[in-house]
Amino acid sequence: MVRHYELVERVQSYLPDADEDLLNKAYIYAMQKHGTQTRADGAPYITHPLEVANILTEMHLDEATIATALLHDTIEDTDATRSEIDSRFGPEIGKLVEGLTKIQGINFESKQVAQAENLRRLLLAVAEDVRVLLVKLADRLHNMRTLDVMRPDKRKRISQETMDIYAPLAGRMGMQDMRDELEELAFQYLHGERHEALVHRLQELTEENRDLVESVRQALIAELADHGIEAEVYGRQKRPYSIFRKMQRKGLSLEQLSDLYGFRVITQTVDECYRALGAVHTRWQIVPGRFKDYISAPKQNDYRSIHTTIIGPEKRRVELQIRTREMHGVAERGVASHSVYKDVDVGSKRTSLSSDGAYGWLRQTIDLLDGGDNPEEFLENTKLELFLDQVFCFTPKGMLIALPKGATVIDFAYAVHTRIGDECVGARVNGNPAPVTQRLRNGDEVHIITGQRSHKALSWETAAVTGKARAGLRRQARTDDDRRSRMIGQSLLRHALSKRGREFVQEDLEAIIDGFGVHSVDDLIVQIGDGRIPPRKVLAALEVPEGRDDANASSSDAGSVRLRNSVKARSYAALQEQMPLRFAPICGALPGDRIIGIMEPGVGITVYPSDAPGLAQFEDNEFWIDMQWDLSPGDETVFPASLIVDASDVPGSLASIAEIVADHGGNIADLSMTPLGASGGLGQSVRMAINLEIATLKALNNAMNDLRDHPLVRQVSRRME
Ligand code: MN
Repeated sequence: MVRHYELVERVQSYLPDADEDLLNKAYIYAMQKHGTQTRADGAPYITHPLEVANILTEMHLDEATIATALLHDTIEDTDATRSEIDSRFGPEIGKLVEGLTKIQGINFESKQVAQAENLRRLLLAVAEDVRVLLVKLADRLHNMRTLDVMRPDKRKRISQETMDIYAPLAGRMGMQDMRDELEELAFQYLHGERHEALVHRLQELTEENRDLVESVRQALIAELADHGIEAEVYGRQKRPYSIFRKMQRKGLSLEQLSDLYGFRVITQTVDECYRALGAVHTRWQIVPGRFKDYISAPKQNDYRSIHTTIIGPEKRRVELQIRTREMHGVAERGVASHSVYKDVDVGSKRTSLSSDGAYGWLRQTIDLLDGGDNPEEFLENTKLELFLDQVFCFTPKGMLIALPKGATVIDFAYAVHTRIGDECVGARVNGNPAPVTQRLRNGDEVHIITGQRSHKALSWETAAVTGKARAGLRRQARTDDDRRSRMIGQSLLRHALSKRGREFVQEDLEAIIDGFGVHSVDDLIVQIGDGRIPPRKVLAALEVPEGRDDANASSSDAGSVRLRNSVKARSYAALQEQMPLRFAPICGALPGDRIIGIMEPGVGITVYPSDAPGLAQFEDNEFWIDMQWDLSPGDETVFPASLIVDASDVPGSLASIAEIVADHGGNIADLSMTPLGASGGLGQSVRMAINLEIATLKALNNAMNDLRDHPLVRQVSRRME
């Protein structure tokens, strides 16, 4: 516990001319007024105002603010009055203490509209003087630090309020240190087990990486020194809550997060910041997309710094913040730092606060209040402005769902209930039909439509921003992938067997599963469908003799039967009726392709797309027949074609591809896979040669376009031989 004389010494360390008498009087008055009152932990009540004042000395605040901190609970909790405080300490302090009293009773656990009204009252109270807010935040911080003596339900309520209101307010005021500590404490009480597990794991990691952090730090210092830049470099581990939030947002585990450590480079001048940046970027490779220059474009809360990420020493990703010492002060203490860095005369602090930036935000917000006595309008204007990174939406019954900014219908569905998320097929937003991927805006009323999903659109997972929705979709995708793989596996195996005149016999398959390292016939089928086990290996294990047909010929044979009915050689109708017709053995041909028939004695007519390279071999053949498709509208006949698809070699990629083909009315008749190895940092790839049947060239092109859009697909081409 801090003692009063220590407090006075601390104030004097940064304000040599501080009014010691004022501080002493305030202390004695508060001590007398609180008398025998005690805190929940049994300590004398005066320890609380002393600690609150002490927190404010860390921000180097003026003596009026420190005195206010000592007095902040007197009007609320004792028989002290505003006029008494005015007469003893002057109207400036009187007004500050009264401001704090006004916001004492505000609590934010009520409904959203009432919350907005309460927030409005809070901001109006602090509008007169931003120091009211600083004392209030310090008061909340000390209460959070001593929260463990409270009842669990009270701890939760206060922590939630801290997370919802006070931590964002501190952040909005640029007071990063305050925000961090409030968030960490609230996180600990709101998610105790996860907090503990995370802290424990981080301790282990710190132990393992102790040398690493130091060696990266030393390498940075040496590199900067080589360029004549004198800078301090600090390595730090990120806070549990910020890691937790990142894990939630990205749906990752701790092990998957690459940037648990951050480094700060603190220079003397702005020029040195940019020179340090240049030195670092010259020496180490930059990670694209992570560079931000908040020095030339400061954040609204006055935050200035350069952010970049490099592949640094020891090939580790290293996150860097480069800033001057002054910027560092602002980054940690925000609005409170202005009194130190921008003020000559501390007494006139309020006029010295910049009119834009954090304090400007507060002023503008308060100006808005003049016009907004409608709480809902206020909700739009202010609370949402405060929580810029959130959107607030409602269920049809009026329940509020708060989501991160950028959230979509699917996030909303999962936020309501996992089952609703799993079954969500669409929505009505404000009464209008909306796709699952639609982004939500503040105040949207979202009615989720559930139903039987024929399949999950591939863009859903990318559209989801919450960890819960992503995890839910991924879990479903795995189930869906298994189901599709089973279906594909079944059909590939049956197809392969029937080509050899064999039937699917469960017992035969059970006898061979050991050889494939699978536990059941079902597993075997799923793995065939995944492309992990080629059907021909199963045939070999079953000792099915090789048939006379290879896979390619069979698909064009199957086509030839339908071809008789659907393709008419306009001027050679008679000929066509007598000659067997078939499709080009590898590339097939589709309605929409311009087609050429090649008539060969003893073979019949083979139909090629007119741009098939394979036609070259018939250059001198005189039996070229110009052919045209002649299909009746609505004809559902399918024709053979082949695709080459390069995709990530991960479970489910074949299933996704098959689904897209099926979406366009195609069937996969046969396929083979060749590993391509790793390429361009994208992981292992596989090349799939897919023989399929599909109705038209247009359908094939649409399927190819959708395949190209799929995140797992690298390249798609039609096989033309
Ligand atoms: Mn208090």
